[in-house]
Amino acid sequence: MELTNDAKQRYLKGRGTHCPFCGSEQIEGSHVEVDGGRAVQPIGCLICDKEWSDIYTLDDVVAGEG
Ligand SMILES: [Zn+2]
Repeated sequence: MELTNDAKQRYLKGRGTHCPFCGSEQIEGSHVEVDGGRAVQPIGCLICDKEWSDIYTLDDVVAGEG
């Protein structure tokens, strides 16, 4: 399955709250895996059953527990 560039931009703009394939809010993320300043979270849509991964990058640091 592929994400069109439009769908991708919409998804990122909406901060990942809607399925990039069908637009549903019924999405569910699983465990986040962190690796060298990059984190990956697999997400699935409960409506259209598609899967994708959100990619996060390290962009800040604070002392203590934040
Ligand atoms: Zn969907």
